[in-house]
Amino acid sequence: MSDHAPPSPSDDLAERVVLAMREHGSPSYPRAFEVWYAHLSGEMPAVSMAMSAIIASSEGKVGAADIDTLYDRFIGTERLARHAERTSLQVLGEIDGLMSLVDKALDSSERYHGRLCAMSEDVPPPADRQKLREWVEALVMSTREEVTRKTKLEAQLRDSSNEIRNLREALESTRAEALTDPLTGLANRRHFEEMLQKSIDQATLRREPFALVMADIDFFKQFNDAHGHLTGDQVLRLVARTMKDKFKDKAVITRFGGEEFAIILPDADVIAGKFGAETVRQALLTRELVKRSTNENLGRITISLGVASYSRGDTAASLTDRADQALMLAKRSGRNRTVTEDAIEATSRVA
Ligand code: GH3
Ligand code: MG
Ligand code: MG
Repeated sequence: MSDHAPPSPSDDLAERVVLAMREHGSPSYPRAFEVWYAHLSGEMPAVSMAMSAIIASSEGKVGAADIDTLYDRFIGTERLARHAERTSLQVLGEIDGLMSLVDKALDSSERYHGRLCAMSEDVPPPADRQKLREWVEALVMSTREEVTRKTKLEAQLRDSSNEIRNLREALESTRAEALTDPLTGLANRRHFEEMLQKSIDQATLRREPFALVMADIDFFKQFNDAHGHLTGDQVLRLVARTMKDKFKDKAVITRFGGEEFAIILPDADVIAGKFGAETVRQALLTRELVKRSTNENLGRITISLGVASYSRGDTAASLTDRADQALMLAKRSGRNRTVTEDAIEATSRVA
């Protein structure tokens, strides 16, 4: 092979991807490369449309949060959907195979039964010992053949049902993956939307109250700029872990997107919601961040939280909007605090 082979179209595309990432100030981790590649190759028109809209609305800047949103919305989802479809087709194929084995087993039993009936009508007289022996030998032979066939079919059935069990497990784990945020292991935005709707349906039907807490890391962009995106990722994991430790399985804790988290707290009014939110905020305040590789002390990170609780007639959008407004108010009031929805009403009365 020559050292000076002409660049292939894919080399050229990879180069354009790298240039575009630099030009638009994108982070340079593998997901970002995948997103830009999908955009510039034109392979995924939905990605290209969304990317063009981001570029147009942000003076050309495409940051980590944009990349993550595009990846989760289009690329990760597409990949999982393709995997699930492939596994489902395999399950259907296995079921077809299984059904034909069952048909074969029934067919062979019927034939065996027919043969026994025919033989029973043809039993030789006891005195004809030679005939009787041949008759018994034929019966034994036929039964032996039937047993061999049955044993073989049984083994095939066992293999096939094992295969179906494996495929079903693969489908279940694909579904779990589709609902999980890979960085933090928390439920993702899609799962949040499913669970919020479920909570609203239950609250409407059974009058069970629940609270929604929206949390956002303070000045996280500065943190990333100062310490790097990978250390930022560790902080996201730490926040997720702290929330899991505090709520255990008593709440649905989700990564809403970027550095925002949403928590659905069952059986909680706005006061209980605020109490839960404060336990997480306080727990994070006590954590000194130390960079493992260098032992450098990175200080503390803080979060702001907004709390709203379900009211009759609420939709997912109206409840999320109130929690979000409370969160914005927490940011405007100086960050590192929890604000409840009552405060929004109070400020809008004053205004
Ligand atoms: P504020 O206190 O107003 O929330 O300020 P902020 O800097 O946290 O908010 P802003 O919306 O300006 O920036 C959000 C930052 O979150 C920018 C982006 O780099 C970072 N971010 C979003 N997703 C990720 C991620 O997956 N990993 C890392 N490391 N950073 C992320
Ligand atoms: Mg944010
Ligand atoms: Mg923030």
